[in-house]
Amino acid sequence: MIPYGRQDIVQADVDTVVETLRSDFLTQGPMVPKFEEMVCKVVDAEHAVAVNSATSGLHAACLALGLKRKEIVWTTPNTFVATANCALFCGAQIDFVDIDASTFNISISKLEEKLKTAAQTATLPKILIVVHFAGLPVEMDKVYDLSIVYGFKIIEDASHAIGANFKGSPIGSCKYSHATVFSFHPVKIITTMEGGLVTTNDAEIYNKLILYRSHGVTRDKNKFMDVSQQEWYYEQHELGFNYRMTDVQAALGISQLERLEEYINRRHEVASHYVKNLNLPLEQFQSQSMQSLSAYHLFVLRIRSDTRENFRNFIYDFMRTKNIGVNVHYRAVHLQPYYKNLGFAHGDFPQAERYSEEALTLPLHPKLSLYDIDYIIEVFNSVVSR
Ligand SMILES: *Cc1c(COP(=O)(O)O)cnc(C)c1O
Repeated sequence: MIPYGRQDIVQADVDTVVETLRSDFLTQGPMVPKFEEMVCKVVDAEHAVAVNSATSGLHAACLALGLKRKEIVWTTPNTFVATANCALFCGAQIDFVDIDASTFNISISKLEEKLKTAAQTATLPKILIVVHFAGLPVEMDKVYDLSIVYGFKIIEDASHAIGANFKGSPIGSCKYSHATVFSFHPVKIITTMEGGLVTTNDAEIYNKLILYRSHGVTRDKNKFMDVSQQEWYYEQHELGFNYRMTDVQAALGISQLERLEEYINRRHEVASHYVKNLNLPLEQFQSQSMQSLSAYHLFVLRIRSDTRENFRNFIYDFMRTKNIGVNVHYRAVHLQPYYKNLGFAHGDFPQAERYSEEALTLPLHPKLSLYDIDYIIEVFNSVVSR
């Protein structure tokens, strides 16, 4: 089966990992800060905190932004469940904003409408988590302007989007947000096996992230509440977790990050080859924007269902029998049984629901061969024309 995404591991990756395995520190050593420093440079951020997954990063970011029980978080329904779950971890309430039918990202006009209504009913969100779906940046300047008017904070779930940029600012620079979260799971753009990272330009948020990553414990003498002269002394200030990334993972990340630009370029090459050669009207691909560069984590398209019911499922099944690992990103989160139990229902976010039924992800990763790409195109074109 040709997978929809997969890691690329080269000898240099193996060498750095083995070197770190043989070093004095498997965790809490020098590789994690080195990786953090490198990511800061690449995405143009002040601070970075590496963690053991994007899920942990999203949770820690919500806490660091001061999210409290009963407060409200909004996000898009077209995402992985972790984006919404992190709000629930904090005892907060979650709500969604429907998507735009052509970018598949959160709809800015629906967001504005919903904010207007929420302002009148005193149900404004404390935090909005935007997702750069498939690597395509959300229009962050517009989201930022709304955040000033309505007083919410912004987290970017950039699990798909390291290497992307919006109006010349790299995603992760937090030019329009309080924090940005990356994932380094093997299907994502670069990998640390499991792993994630949060960037921010706010020193206070950074200090909180550091605390939440490691049990809420500090060893920084300048921050102690009680005085002690002893070397061993430490203090717990928050209820934190063990969300640490290991040095072995960070070593892999450092090595992978060297190839970020190469990966993004290759992903664009494959994507434009698809767009040129697939027999599909242009408006059924994810629309791209002149003012941003996608990281192209996923190659997604819509199989219009108005003409034929379940045509997407038919194509999905057919391509799978041809050993092409097509996938669906995403089934709208609010329709997951867990979220339906919280009161969400069919009809709540019609664009996201319709998209869920039409979405198809074709394989896209840097090591996809030209031979495989042409095979995928050939099979796809033969099945859509039926
Ligand atoms: C992969 C992903 C996550 C979770 O990442 P982990 O590192 O596996 O925890 C969160 N949000 C989105 C949009 C993702 O794609």
